[in-house]
Amino acid sequence: MTEETIFSRILKGEIPCDEVYSDSLCLAFRDIQPQAPVHILVIPRKPIKSLKETSSEDKELLGHLLLISSAIAKEQGLVNWRTVINTGAEAGQTVFHLHIHIIGGRALEWPPG
Ligand code: AMP
Repeated sequence: MTEETIFSRILKGEIPCDEVYSDSLCLAFRDIQPQAPVHILVIPRKPIKSLKETSSEDKELLGHLLLISSAIAKEQGLVNWRTVINTGAEAGQTVFHLHIHIIGGRALEWPPG
């Protein structure tokens, strides 16, 4: 059985979210603790823990998530933005259901901490 996460509960409708986009493969919603004026998460409906657990079987899904992230960013009026996938606790991953952060609406520094 796959482990429950806050995001699997959002997908089941058990926890509300501020939805931005939804289709048969993914859901996008606003981050509850936004780090920038626009901070949206795009998650697959398929329960994948992190990028580490993906395989060639997920090629189309991963492409879809990136294309949707770009479409959402543009739809939000962003010209510059950052897409982030934290993989593993030491890289900052706190929710173990794959997600892409779309962060924008302010100048972003590099490198990250
Ligand atoms: P990460 O640290 O990369 O695993 O990102 C997890 C993100 O999920 C964080 O930016 C949190 O603020 C966000 N988050 C946690 N719970 C919720 C929630 N219920 N609704 C929306 N975003 C959430």
